[in-house]
Amino acid sequence: MAPQVAASGATAAIIGGDLARLVGGAADYAALRMLLAPVTAAMPVAMILGNHDHRANFLGAFPTSAGVSQKVPNKHVMVLEHSGLRLVLLDSLLATDVTPGQLGQAQRTWLAQHLASAPPLPTAIVVHHTLTDQDGALVDAERLFDVVRPHPQVKTILYGHSHTYEVRERDGLQLINLPAVGYNFADTQPVGWVDSIWTDEGVDLTLRAIGGNQAANGQTTSVHWAR
Ligand SMILES: [Zn+2]
Repeated sequence: MAPQVAASGATAAIIGGDLARLVGGAADYAALRMLLAPVTAAMPVAMILGNHDHRANFLGAFPTSAGVSQKVPNKHVMVLEHSGLRLVLLDSLLATDVTPGQLGQAQRTWLAQHLASAPPLPTAIVVHHTLTDQDGALVDAERLFDVVRPHPQVKTILYGHSHTYEVRERDGLQLINLPAVGYNFADTQPVGWVDSIWTDEGVDLTLRAIGGNQAANGQTTSVHWAR
């Protein structure tokens, strides 16, 4: 997959978490560095932590990554801006190898202050955990929606964790659940990555399936901002 992404001509890549398979050992991130080498040679790569990651080990292997690091205690929070689009990359890692995720009060407070004070570029938030009320999802998902709702510059939230590829809308926000890059939980789901083209009006998502259900490989889903 990495050579395919590297050859895609994309200006940047984002990996939405669970960078490691289980407990985020130092060797896992060393392997990731090696696997990602074709991509990191071709474009900036931003990385988000998931429930199978280990923050200190990750930062040991990747002391710098794409974006500007934000001062949120014990969280890896980054902001990237490119061509009139702002990406806010949140950290929902609560504890390594514990399934649910949490942003926590300090990160939610930082996000509220950031959204209120930053010049209002169209903004996409990226977080690892699923935004549902399931036990293994983001435990403070409703509080995240409370923070985001008053700021219409936030157009979309991208997330993963469920190993499901789908787009739905809530409160005028486009919720984009990205597919898994490693393995699926259900045979109906693809394994792969999504090539995205962003405009002022929305984003075109083209599925690049490399495993699982590849029936929708190459199909583009046009997502239009609803606010
Ligand atoms: Zn996960």
